[in-house]
Amino acid sequence: MISLANPLAELKGVGKTIAIRLKKLGLNTVSDLVFYFPFRYDHFQNAGSIASLQEGQEAQIIGQIDLINNRRSARRKMNLTEAIIQDDSGILKVIWFNQPYIAKNLKVGDFVSFAGRVSEQFGGLCLVSPSYEKLINHQETSTQNLHNTQGIIPNYHLVEGLTSKQLRYLIRQVIALSNEIKDSLPSQIISEHHLMPLATAIKNIHFPENGADLDESRRRLGFEELFVWQLRAQLIKRQLQGRQAPKITFNEEATREFVNSLPFTLSGDQKKAGWEILLDLEKAGPMSRLLQGDVGSGKTVVAALAILNTKLTGEGKTLLMAPTEILATQHFETFKKLFSSYDFKISLLTANRKEANWQEGSPRLSSGEARKIKVTEITTKSDLIIGTHALISDKVTLAPVSLVIVDEQQRFGVKQRKKLADLNGANNLAPHFLSLSATPIPRSLALALYGDLDLSLINELPPGRKTVITKIVSEEKRQAAYDFATKEINAGRQMFVVCPLISESDKLGVKSAKEEAERLKEVFPNFKIGLLHGKLKSADKEKVMNEFLNQKIQILVSTSVIEVGIDIKNANIMLVEGAERFGLSTLHQFRGRVGRGNEQAYCFLFTSNENGSPSAETSRRLEALVKNQNGRDLAEEDLKFRGAGETYGLLQSGFPELKIASLFDYTQIKAAQTSAEKLIKDDPELKNWPKIKIKVGQIEGEVHLE
Ligand code: ADP
Ligand code: MG
Repeated sequence: MISLANPLAELKGVGKTIAIRLKKLGLNTVSDLVFYFPFRYDHFQNAGSIASLQEGQEAQIIGQIDLINNRRSARRKMNLTEAIIQDDSGILKVIWFNQPYIAKNLKVGDFVSFAGRVSEQFGGLCLVSPSYEKLINHQETSTQNLHNTQGIIPNYHLVEGLTSKQLRYLIRQVIALSNEIKDSLPSQIISEHHLMPLATAIKNIHFPENGADLDESRRRLGFEELFVWQLRAQLIKRQLQGRQAPKITFNEEATREFVNSLPFTLSGDQKKAGWEILLDLEKAGPMSRLLQGDVGSGKTVVAALAILNTKLTGEGKTLLMAPTEILATQHFETFKKLFSSYDFKISLLTANRKEANWQEGSPRLSSGEARKIKVTEITTKSDLIIGTHALISDKVTLAPVSLVIVDEQQRFGVKQRKKLADLNGANNLAPHFLSLSATPIPRSLALALYGDLDLSLINELPPGRKTVITKIVSEEKRQAAYDFATKEINAGRQMFVVCPLISESDKLGVKSAKEEAERLKEVFPNFKIGLLHGKLKSADKEKVMNEFLNQKIQILVSTSVIEVGIDIKNANIMLVEGAERFGLSTLHQFRGRVGRGNEQAYCFLFTSNENGSPSAETSRRLEALVKNQNGRDLAEEDLKFRGAGETYGLLQSGFPELKIASLFDYTQIKAAQTSAEKLIKDDPELKNWPKIKIKVGQIEGEVHLE
């Protein structure tokens, strides 16, 4: 007898190879499989007859195979399996690409159920790459035994060598066992929100009989996800609320002076955000604030206002954490300049570089020397310490810290937040916390999800910013794009070239930074070309960045390490290779690297073109980037392409990886929040809810630093 705890290898149809593939998906036991939910469904309606099919329809049809064979398509260099099927009403063409075995599976005379999109191609209606299943005999059209082509069909995230059809087959073997799963939610919550039992929801999520059942099961499972997340947020909130923070006074005069010393005028939103932050810092409890503004909106200088006031209040020290060494170094340079007329001790601490602006004579310490000079000596003296994650590793003593700023941090989770709150010791003052992010999060959502997080927004870009002209460039136009770049560079500008990979790989047609840098030396023999990627030693990274900054290099070929933050005003062309391999938010970040100066800027997107031209979906996705300049609009577009529960940009902000619930379902988030508040109020330690407590603990494990 198979039970939920059994390894999947014991199921029919799971040999060694399949077991390894399942493992790649994190699926080891029967229980894992049952809790592995589909991310998408096909809705296949029986079309009745071939004659009644219409273009664009998602249809199921039963027909008999008249003809089936394989041929090579010379133009597309792939195998085509073509079949003609018929029923009483007419005939229909069916095509598959690169699946020659289908011609072995299906034989002339077989009755087969097909499901897929009807399209107009090859001079008539046809089904392209449909799912199919053979009928045992042609009387058996009752659909009872059709599991893959009829009705609502689940699709699962897969790895190479596994199909949704296989997963459906395996899950069908064990789905009855879901009856043994006990409900994890308190029964009063289940009845209050009219949720279906967990066991029923699990059955329906895999094998829904109709849309209504599916919706209800999604509501049940989604509620639990949000509820657990809410419990976690509430627990943190309670912990933070009890803490005292250093009081930082708003020095209006000094702030005004600083603002007047800037080479530009602050935008209205920058002023407002700065004001909100400074008022918050005066309060007795720790600030927890997210400063959100699109790429290039000027968050750094707003953060500077907080740093300034922190310094001016006695001994206040600020810690600034950046996601990459390059960005930390850039911040170091920026703040040295911003505070050049102040007696400000600023230091840079990354894994490879330890430096302080007051170390006279030898401003830079090589790592050898740095080992000798105690890091603690630097940290004790600093007013502002800038660095990467390494800063909150246990080895460095930073305390006492009054303000922590986290810049563009990906996946900065609750666990790290807690660690920061205890930075000065669990019984001492908790530092204020400011997070800077370009990821657009709806205000209602942020408030609901992070019960303890306040939000400041910069919605306007600094005046005078030009929009970046964005173009998807076809292979034929590559030379024209290079000619254009040559002209711009000859006029004194610079160009970024971003590639998906560091070095050559077996991924056909995908460009690597190393190879591309070599190739471009031939394309642009008159320009100096630099190479930047994550595997370079940090001294080398810095050297390249400096050469680019000082215009000794005209073209910087890089991997996505330049994704965040880098600010080089003279660069005005961003050329992206293999653009289809990046998410829209990432591409938007790339584009944000240019258009920071006064010149018109350009973003050219190339695709890898493995099969000729980019797929329709790739084109549509990239078109969104051409049309939208604004990160918020793009995030919404991204959502449309990825579907709820999979919002790339949001995940990076440390939001939970929701499998079912939508981060945009405000009503459900609110309901889960209210229920969580109630439960915590009655039972702050969740003593009576061990199962839920375990799940809350698991979130902590899921939210991790890169
Ligand atoms: P981000 O919000 O992406 O971190 P930055 O803080 O790096 O943006 O600012 C981008 C650039 O805009 C910087 O070079 C900065 O000096 C400049 N900047 C910031 N605020 C203004 C402003 N109000 N007017 C003009 N330029 C500004
Ligand atoms: Mg920034």
